[in-house]
Amino acid sequence: MGKYVMSIDQGTTSSRAIVFDKKGNIIAKAQKEFTQIYPHEGWVEHDPEEIIAGVKEVVAEVLGKVGAENVECIGVTNQRETVVVWDKNTGKPVYNAIVWQCRRTADYCDKLKEAGLEKLIYSKTGLQIDAYFSATKIRWILENVDGARERAEKGDLLFGTMDTYVMWCLSGGRIFATDYTNASRTMLFNIHDMTWDEDLIKMFDVPVGMFPAVYPSGHAYGITSADITGREIPVCGDAGDQQAALYGHLCTKKGSIKNTYGTGCFVLMNTGDEPIESKRGLVTTVAASRDGENPQYVLEGSVFVGGAVIQWLRDELKLINSSPETEEIAKSVPDTGGVYIVPAFVGLGAPHWDSKARGLITGITRGTSRAHIVRAALEAIAYQVVDVMHAMQSDADCRITALGVDGGACANNFLMQFQSDILNCKVVRPKIIETTALGVAYLAGLKTGYWNDEDEIRENVGVERVFEPKMSKKKRTDLLMGWADSIARAKFR
Ligand code: ADP
Repeated sequence: MGKYVMSIDQGTTSSRAIVFDKKGNIIAKAQKEFTQIYPHEGWVEHDPEEIIAGVKEVVAEVLGKVGAENVECIGVTNQRETVVVWDKNTGKPVYNAIVWQCRRTADYCDKLKEAGLEKLIYSKTGLQIDAYFSATKIRWILENVDGARERAEKGDLLFGTMDTYVMWCLSGGRIFATDYTNASRTMLFNIHDMTWDEDLIKMFDVPVGMFPAVYPSGHAYGITSADITGREIPVCGDAGDQQAALYGHLCTKKGSIKNTYGTGCFVLMNTGDEPIESKRGLVTTVAASRDGENPQYVLEGSVFVGGAVIQWLRDELKLINSSPETEEIAKSVPDTGGVYIVPAFVGLGAPHWDSKARGLITGITRGTSRAHIVRAALEAIAYQVVDVMHAMQSDADCRITALGVDGGACANNFLMQFQSDILNCKVVRPKIIETTALGVAYLAGLKTGYWNDEDEIRENVGVERVFEPKMSKKKRTDLLMGWADSIARAKFR
């Protein structure tokens, strides 16, 4: 039995390797950023070979610290939806990875909507038709890269989300697989049958030979190559980043919910065995599961600009020098003095879905100060999360009593207290906020028996701080009314 479990987190701006012990403590960690490629307005790409070189580097660095012989198994988590198409004979990508943020297929998505396919696609995949998801990106590569379609039809090309490409490369081409959570974000996967969907495969015209095998997130995927990881290490976990984080909070029961406060915010709620159809612009998707379990479903809502509004205060407005100082600045005033910021910089995501909305600041008076603006920016993050959570409660017909949090901005105590106040629910911040990497480590370690069962892990989960709601109902209602008014003004009309 190895002493540790290693997670590889292939994120949007960097790749990381983190080694955990049985208690979930971080033993070693390495991180490598990679280039963001913007070939045109609204297009975003990554160089898959640069990413793999970086992954190998961070893996070698942590294995150098802890010893490959001490690592029992590996879990892989990744930026979701981003896809690569590569040649299975050479491993060479035929084009850069097309990143989830890339809008190049937006017009094609509009055509699909005009053709009235929204209902059909939602009923099979749980997703709204959008350039965000992988299917139209794969189709774009096949249509636009010279010779790609012919090579794909001959059986030479494979496609995969980043988990698949990472596992394929680390195993020297022996693992060609993905998990249900990643598959569920491609718009090619039927979340009711848990299989690639034949109708969608035809609709997006992707040759069947390109598809990876699909398994639960906690599964023995195969082994890495000894020449890459020092010895052959089993890969026993794979999950998309948000579902991995949900698992890292051990939100494995119906009604449990987490929010990640990163650049954007991602709210995911476990809805149990039945997929819930959203009437309020949320996405229905699949939770991480283990071999032998029935997969559970999730309602998901994403807020495009979360922590990014704080970066905007720092980099564009130059109101602050660093993100953490917003906490003290916000606390220096009793309220925002009636100021609201709606950071609809790239339109509004769930539950409003208005791509033409733009940001605004309302309620400014002669007395409005820097502190009021900073406070309003932090509060805006919390209000957007409230809008998503209220939609979730209505769709799922339940009342949320506690929210698990992670991501960079959850370190902000003012934000967490305000979030609790405005939601009127507990906010629970764990000791280890590397929840994504931890989640997939749990999945991998449970598969090999490193951890016996979920109960053993639950004992480990340390809570660092619980924020309890303290705001009066009257104040909460008034503030939320002001927010609703500002959102209405930000919407396109
Ligand atoms: P990502 O994984 O999306 O790159 P992180 O989880 O690292 O993001 O979180 C970084 C974001 O959180 C940034 O947008 C940053 O402005 C914000 N942030 C980090 N620390 C704080 C803080 N103490 N208060 C408010 N915002 C913060």
